[in-house]
Amino acid sequence: MTDQKNSEKTKIIIKKTSDSGKKPDGGIVSYIISVLIIFIVLSSIYSYFSNNSKEADNVPISQLATDIKSGIVTSIVVRGDTLDLVYKDGVKKTSKKETNEALLQTLVNYSVTKEQVGAIKVDIKNESGLSYWFFNLSPIIFPILFILIFIWFLTRQVRGAGMQALTFGQSKARMIDPNDKSQKVTFKDVAGCKEAKEELGEIVDFLKNPRKFLDIGARIPKGILLMGPAGTGKTLLARAVAGESNVTFFSVSGSEFVEMFVGVGAARVRDMFAMAKKNSPAIIFVDEIDAVGRVRGVGAGGGNDEREQTLNQILVEMDGFEPNEKVIVMSATNRPDVLDPALLRPGRFDRRVTLDLPDRRDREEILQVHSKEKPFAEDVNLQVIAERTPGFSGADLYSLMNEGAILAARENRTTVAQYDLIRSIEKVMLGPERKSHILSKKEKEIAAYHEAGHAVLASLLPYADPVHKISIIARGHAAGYVLKLPLEDTKMQSKKEFLDDIAVSLGGYVTEKMLFDDLTTGPSSDLQVSTALARDMVTKYGMSDMLGPVALESQTGKIIFGRGVEEKEFSEKVAADIDAEVSRIMREAHDKAHKVITENRLLLDAVAKRLIEKEAIERAEFETILVAHGITPKQKLDIEHQV
Ligand code: ADP
Ligand code: MG
Ligand code: ZN
Repeated sequence: MTDQKNSEKTKIIIKKTSDSGKKPDGGIVSYIISVLIIFIVLSSIYSYFSNNSKEADNVPISQLATDIKSGIVTSIVVRGDTLDLVYKDGVKKTSKKETNEALLQTLVNYSVTKEQVGAIKVDIKNESGLSYWFFNLSPIIFPILFILIFIWFLTRQVRGAGMQALTFGQSKARMIDPNDKSQKVTFKDVAGCKEAKEELGEIVDFLKNPRKFLDIGARIPKGILLMGPAGTGKTLLARAVAGESNVTFFSVSGSEFVEMFVGVGAARVRDMFAMAKKNSPAIIFVDEIDAVGRVRGVGAGGGNDEREQTLNQILVEMDGFEPNEKVIVMSATNRPDVLDPALLRPGRFDRRVTLDLPDRRDREEILQVHSKEKPFAEDVNLQVIAERTPGFSGADLYSLMNEGAILAARENRTTVAQYDLIRSIEKVMLGPERKSHILSKKEKEIAAYHEAGHAVLASLLPYADPVHKISIIARGHAAGYVLKLPLEDTKMQSKKEFLDDIAVSLGGYVTEKMLFDDLTTGPSSDLQVSTALARDMVTKYGMSDMLGPVALESQTGKIIFGRGVEEKEFSEKVAADIDAEVSRIMREAHDKAHKVITENRLLLDAVAKRLIEKEAIERAEFETILVAHGITPKQKLDIEHQV
């Protein structure tokens, strides 16, 4: 009973919100159309009448007099000053007489006799008809009408803007009706994220069946914070919770609260909560909450006050409603570290759900979810794709599937083949191939040795990830690349791995210097990445023996314990020590890389030569080169890689 009532109410309100939501843009279009229609109708009427009068020949009155005298005119219709003439041979003509003078008098003035006039049928029509007025006034009316329409149109627009100013404080939340099947997302559409789904299942249960929880005195969390890197499905999951529990879903992005005017955000928050309460049970979803929920009292620049007020209002509203109001606030962020601690207090967003980048099995499931409606060729093996995409987020995998389908369609095939998906991996990872970027012979040689340097180190250093593919075809920003794949998905990295990674990054730099006794701009990004890694080792992970177990930089580099830290928290001496340690790590990595490459010069030459020949080497081929030089390739994954 109550449920039905509620849903009826919901429907009515939905109608209202969607109407007022549509007005601005839908309205302007209809204004333009109506103005156009009016204009077209008026101008066609005008041209109809003016054409009518032009159809017949116009004869001067003197000619008419002559014609009457020669007796070839049969009838005259007088219409004001206009004379419609009919001749004996049936020809119709018009003429004009002087205003305020009778026709007879005029004709007599042209020495037409009364008898001659008497032989003609003269008909006088009083011109009071609409057409008369219209025809005579149209030159005045049209411009005036046009100006009026123009003014009307302008005022409508201005009034629209004024209305917008009045509705400023209304929340911009989009509402998704639980009965709208086209927008419905359920847990089935979200692959992987098992723990998150379990955790949220409880919320779904509560929204579906609140009595069960309330009767036993259980307090259901008011706020749930979804945290995780971009593209891991936070927004999707929030919608799935609403879809599963069949409640109204209000979705708003944190940045939408913030406008130019202070106080608007707070008003919008009030409005949104009021709306949600009216439609309870409901979920309010604040996406990218870090836009308003940043630590208060730090940072410079405008809009800060506004953010604080908005955040305060959210906190006030969340404190203000009771558990039995059946409104749950969900929010998502990929920067939980910058959130204000007040948001995370018990009673607010105290339930936190973390979404991680998907592991191999989850990636396969996500690929499966997005392979619906895509016809696959027989050779498609999503397991292999999942294996080759460590570090991909759900959004990346979605775009991979899409790119694959686009590739197949561009080549006029009706099914998506494995090869399309394999190619899409690199496209999503590094950007499109730049085929037009043609290297000179010398450049190609340098690029080949550079990439071969990375590849040789990656295969010989014990803690580096093995090579999957080497290419000197430019892609995105990279002139060439070595794809490495970890043997397994790991969440933790060790100091030894970091050191080997840095050495591998320096492989290009070392080979270029060694072989060509010169350096190009090629290794610049390698240097940036590896130096940043070395610095993190020293300042974040306590991996420097000299400085010992201290974190000298917070995760964000700016905020520690919710406090903004503008100044360095360490002395100048420590800063100098950090720099010294970073350069020591880099130098040692360089020496290690130099040594390994010098010792394996033959292997380096072989790989580089093959690269110059073929431009890209896949794993299998690379491993035969390794074996030919007496090196055992690193342990393969249990599943055979096959393209
Ligand atoms: P976020 O909000 O975490 O940045 P989204 O929820 O907007 O990420 O995800 C973007 C897109 O990526 C989704 O629309 C969906 O197509 C895809 N996606 C992400 N994660 C998953 C997942 N676990 N299962 C299925 N699709 C996913
Ligand atoms: Mg999102
Ligand atoms: Zn490089």
